[in-house]
Amino acid sequence: MSDIDSAQDCLFCRIVAGDIPAQKVMETDRVVAFRDIAPQAPVHILVVPRTHAPNVAALAAAAPEELAEMAQVAQRIADAECGGEYRWIFNTGAAAGQTVFHAHGHVMNGGTLGWSA
Ligand code: AMP
Repeated sequence: MSDIDSAQDCLFCRIVAGDIPAQKVMETDRVVAFRDIAPQAPVHILVVPRTHAPNVAALAAAAPEELAEMAQVAQRIADAECGGEYRWIFNTGAAAGQTVFHAHGHVMNGGTLGWSA
């Protein structure tokens, strides 16, 4: 199985497939967005591609149209939830805090967000 195939043991692939419940807020042909289970801000939504890729750079190489659609979905969610302004974070690598190795962007706002690494 290649990286861009759906990985059976991937949490976000299973959420995308509907095998694990999540509080979904938007779905398109290429993208699914759902609320983070442990929100770090009043608005904290994960935007994920349907294609499995281990991080955002791998997704950009394998399926750039999905990354572009993720950006559009992130903006639509922010328009609906926090006045169109938001932080969009891609943790890449365990040392940077990535814990789920299926590309995803964190859409965050709704309060005062300090800068923290
Ligand atoms: P990262 O640390 O960048 O890999 O982000 C993974 C995020 O997934 C974390 O913010 C977790 O709180 C979130 N998360 C883990 N499991 C679930 C789940 N079942 N539903 C929604 N969010 C989840």
